[in-house]
Amino acid sequence: MRSELKELLEKCAICPRNCMVNRFDGKTGYCRTDEGLNVASVCIHRGEEPVISGSYGIVNVFFSHCNLQCIYCQNHQISDNKASISSELDDNELIADEIIRLLDTGPEALGFVSPSHMVPQMISLIEGLQARGRRPVVVYNSNGYDSVATLRMIENYVDVYLPDFKYSENELAREYSSAPGYFETASAALREMYRQKGSTLIVSDKGYAQQGLVIRHLVLPGHLSNTCGVLKFIAEEISPNIHISLMSQYYPVPGVLGHKLLGRALIEEEYREAVSCFNEYGFHKGWLQGLDSTTSYRPDFVFDHPFEH
Ligand code: SF4
Repeated sequence: MRSELKELLEKCAICPRNCMVNRFDGKTGYCRTDEGLNVASVCIHRGEEPVISGSYGIVNVFFSHCNLQCIYCQNHQISDNKASISSELDDNELIADEIIRLLDTGPEALGFVSPSHMVPQMISLIEGLQARGRRPVVVYNSNGYDSVATLRMIENYVDVYLPDFKYSENELAREYSSAPGYFETASAALREMYRQKGSTLIVSDKGYAQQGLVIRHLVLPGHLSNTCGVLKFIAEEISPNIHISLMSQYYPVPGVLGHKLLGRALIEEEYREAVSCFNEYGFHKGWLQGLDSTTSYRPDFVFDHPFEH
């Protein structure tokens, strides 16, 4: 890793938590990851938005742990900051080998999933691939809780931003993701992503995204006002021309079974109302999911292919 990247890890303010710990010293901050690559999985995902996945899927690098701790996280096996981290994937060359092997089966895009706390490592991986002559379309798939300074640093590395915008209501962010001030932080991050990419999604002849911004929002059961608040903010404060992926795939993971609101999947009427908000605020580009998606996207990171088990 380049010395400039190492320095960022020595007084860590890579994400908005601003822990200021030295990750080389065995001192871990909120995300409980050190200076290593902390990769949990490298796999092909045939996922939500066709423009991102293409017909061959996207090669996704999943990092361990996260700077949010959402109680309903579908990737909880690897995102829980108390979970152990595999030491199998801790070598830049080995990970690059695996990425290249998977890219050679057809995918054109490389996604980094939950990268907000792992940006220096992500850059190091991208530079390692570039040194080997590989320049896939890089997709930054974050939870939206990103630092603006860090986003400025990766402007020339990221082709497509694919952030979540989870909450317009900070009480929910605090209660469900232990992320006070999520709305203000994610709003600033989205504005920065928009400054970099605008609302035009550049796609190839094959229909695959090459440059741009797609904002995801997962509709939570019982929280329609949160969803409409998110859509209102994007439309009125950023642009209604942005591509939105309005996701209905929520399902309760074991940790929230029995929760008064989060303990069930969405019902049709709820999602229909979310779509009404999408239309009301003038969005006209993006993707709506069918409710059958609640059974289609259930990763299990015990398997080598978490999405194909
Ligand atoms: S990346 Fe981790 S250690 Fe650094 S500021 Fe964020 S949570 Fe803290």
